[in-house]
Amino acid sequence: MKDFKAEKPTWCPGCGDFGVLNAMQRAAVALGLEPENVVVISGIGCSGKMSQHFGGYGLHSLHGRSLPTAQAVKLANKDLTVMAAGGDGDGFGIGMGHFVHAMRRNVDITYIVMDNHIYGLTTGQASPTSDLGSTTKTSPHGTVEKPIEPLQLALSERCGFIAQGFSGDTKHLAQLIEQAILHRGFSFVNVFSPCVTFNKVNTYESYKGGLVNLDEDETYDKTDRFLAVKRVSEANNLVVGVVYQDDTQPAYDAQVYGYPEEPLVHLSQGLEEEEYGRILANFR
Ligand code: SF4
Repeated sequence: MKDFKAEKPTWCPGCGDFGVLNAMQRAAVALGLEPENVVVISGIGCSGKMSQHFGGYGLHSLHGRSLPTAQAVKLANKDLTVMAAGGDGDGFGIGMGHFVHAMRRNVDITYIVMDNHIYGLTTGQASPTSDLGSTTKTSPHGTVEKPIEPLQLALSERCGFIAQGFSGDTKHLAQLIEQAILHRGFSFVNVFSPCVTFNKVNTYESYKGGLVNLDEDETYDKTDRFLAVKRVSEANNLVVGVVYQDDTQPAYDAQVYGYPEEPLVHLSQGLEEEEYGRILANFR
């Protein structure tokens, strides 16, 4: 087994993203993945550095565009394990349209969002998940926009795997990411990942002891979407664990007529132009 050795992260000391990186690497090692078979695609923001820091292949894409890039990589080579990583600004702001349609499309990738409720890289502006009334550089009198609720949004889209973790508990987070990778189809893991420099409200301390762990609740049925909506609402989104899982939804490649068993990147090497065109026509 090779290590996922990466360059030294440049995040602020104590940033929640360190825990997410650690959990992603632990999950990859636990699953016996080799670095050359894993690709991490990131968007823009502090979280965007994940593609450089992870230690497998990586691509630092454009702001909000990690998901279309990651889906394209997976469709071109389905033998790869593909993860997209980003932040709440990247994913729920400029990238929101891609998020919704990726859940509908159900390409077999894992999407990990480091949700710190603020724009960190640009030094502390309100983000789509900032709590109502948050005082930030762009909201000195408090935000007036209701925050996006990522879990409820994913539940409304019937995303086949939805989990939430906390970067202060990397062991549990690694288990969630492991399950997300194993899920056949689009999987979404939202992570409370504190920005220690610019967000003094959503801190490690604020989450510790205040999160409801659904994985520890034997009465919780993660296949019941309406129960998930109710429990997430009751806990005011402060849950961790697997929120919802539906293994009956076929992944994108299993539904597209004529999608070959062999990865497209291999096929394209020996294909006649006409046959290659026929395969590509299925994606139009
Ligand atoms: Fe992390 Fe915030 Fe520093 Fe960015 S600004 S590296 S999110 S602590």
